[in-house]
Amino acid sequence: MTLKIFNQLKLKSFQNRFESVQNRIQKLQKMQNWIKKNELLILESVHSDFNKPHFETAMSEIMIVLNELKYFKTNLKSWVIDQIVSTPISLFGHKSKIRYENKGVILIISPWNYPFQLAINPLIAAISAGNTVVIKPSELTPATSLLIQKMCSEIFETNDVNVELGDKEKTNELLDYQFDHVFFTGSTNVGRIIAVHCAQKLIPYTLELGGKSPVIITESADIDDAISKIHWGKYLNRGQTCVAPDYVLVHDSIQAEFQTRFNSYSKSIDQKQNPEKISQIISRNHQSRLDDLNSGQFDFKKSAVELIQIKNIDHPLMADEIFGPTSPVIGYSDLKSAVEIILKYPDPLAFYIFSKNNAETEFLLKSIPSGGVGINSVSVHLANHHLPFGGRGNSGQGRYHGHFGFLEFSHQRAIIEQKFLNQSLQILFPPYTELKMKLLKILRYFTN
Ligand code: NAD
Repeated sequence: MTLKIFNQLKLKSFQNRFESVQNRIQKLQKMQNWIKKNELLILESVHSDFNKPHFETAMSEIMIVLNELKYFKTNLKSWVIDQIVSTPISLFGHKSKIRYENKGVILIISPWNYPFQLAINPLIAAISAGNTVVIKPSELTPATSLLIQKMCSEIFETNDVNVELGDKEKTNELLDYQFDHVFFTGSTNVGRIIAVHCAQKLIPYTLELGGKSPVIITESADIDDAISKIHWGKYLNRGQTCVAPDYVLVHDSIQAEFQTRFNSYSKSIDQKQNPEKISQIISRNHQSRLDDLNSGQFDFKKSAVELIQIKNIDHPLMADEIFGPTSPVIGYSDLKSAVEIILKYPDPLAFYIFSKNNAETEFLLKSIPSGGVGINSVSVHLANHHLPFGGRGNSGQGRYHGHFGFLEFSHQRAIIEQKFLNQSLQILFPPYTELKMKLLKILRYFTN
C-alpha cells in the first residue's frame, strides 16, 4: 500500500465524521446484497482453499456474517447517538455525555481458518463505527482472500476499504503506517509480534488469539450429549477452530465408558459421512506438525475425529494448541485436581463444562478464568452477538461481535458542558482561603 492511499484513507476517515448514520447503514446493506448474490462464489472459494464443505461455510461463515449485518443494520441508529450520563452534585450546573466517534483508519489482519467470517465480521463493526479500513487476509486461503478483495472493490471506494494481499512481509509493510487501531486474529505468537509493533507506535489493538481450550466432564454429565458436542467441535473445520475443544478431562469413574462410546459414535458418523465432504488440514506444514504430534498414529483419511487417552500432561499433545481433529483425554479423581491441571496453562479462549450439577458448574466457573464459557455446550457462544467475544491474557485482548464490536472500534469521547450556574466551581479556584477549605469540607460531607 502506498503512502498516498493511506493518506486518502485517513482523510476519508475524517470526512466520515460528518456522514449520516444512514450512509453507514447503506454500506451494510450493500454488503448484505453482495453476499446474498455471490453466496455460491463464497462457498466455492472457501471449498477450493481447503475443501471446506459448503454446509460448514454456509453455517459457520455466511450465516454468522449475515446475522451480524442484520443486527448492526437494526441497531446502529441507537448506538451512534450521544449517551447522556449522570453528573455528580459536586459538578453542579454541568451536563455530561459520551459521544461515539470513529477512531480513524483500522488495520484488520485475519487468519485462514474462517477466512471469510474473520475478515468480514470485524469489517462490519469497523465501518459501522465510521472508520476506514485496510484488510490483510491470510495468504493460506488465496481464493477466499482474492474474493474478499473483489467484494470490497465492488462495494467500497479504495479510500474507504482497501484489501491488501500478501504474507507476513505484507503485514510488516502495513505495520509501518500509523493506523488508529489494529485488529488481529491469529496465533498467540504472531499476536505478540503485532503487539510489539503497535506498542512502538502507541497504536491501540485488539488481539483475538488461540490457546488450549479445555473440556471438563463431571460424574453428573450426560455422556452422550457431551460426546456428540465435543465430536462436532473437533469435526467442524477439521478441528481448526480457535474455540474447538483442545483437551478433555473426564472423571475416572466414567472415563472408560466415555472413550468406548465416543469411539463408536465417531465411527457411526464416519460411516454416514462422505469423506470427500470434510475440511482438509490447511497445509503440508500443519499436516506434518499434526503427524508428529500424534506420532503418526492417527490416520487422517480413515477417521474424522479421534480422542487419545494419555496419562499425564507431559505428553506432547499437551504442549501447544492442537488445532486439528485429535484431542488428548486425561482422567481425574476430583474436581480440584482437574482445576489444577487447567491452571497450569495460560487462560484459555474457551472453557467447556459438561455437568448437570449447578454447584459443580459454579465451582468451575469461579476456579477457571477463560475468554468465554460453554456449559453443556461447545463453540456456539461465538454465534450469539449479544455476548462479547474475546480472550484474556494469552488468548487475547479486547472483544467484539454486536455492540461490543461497535464499541471496540469507537472512541468514547467524554464531553462535559457547563449549562448553568457558571460560578459553581469558583470555590475550587485560587486563591485558596480558609473559607474555601470550610466550604470544601461541607461539600465533601454531602458527597463523599
Ligand atoms: P497466524 O498467526 O499464523 O496468521 C494470522 C495472520 O498473521 C495472517 O494474515 C498472516 O499472514 C499474518 N502473519 C503470520 N505470521 C506473521 C508474522 N511473523 N508477522 C506478521 N504477520 C504474520 O494464524 P493462523 O495460522 O492464520 O490462524 C490460526 C491461529 O489463529 C490459531 O492459534 C487460532 O486459535 C487463532 N484464531 C483465533 C481466533 C479468535 O477469534 N480468537 C479465530 C481464529 C483463529
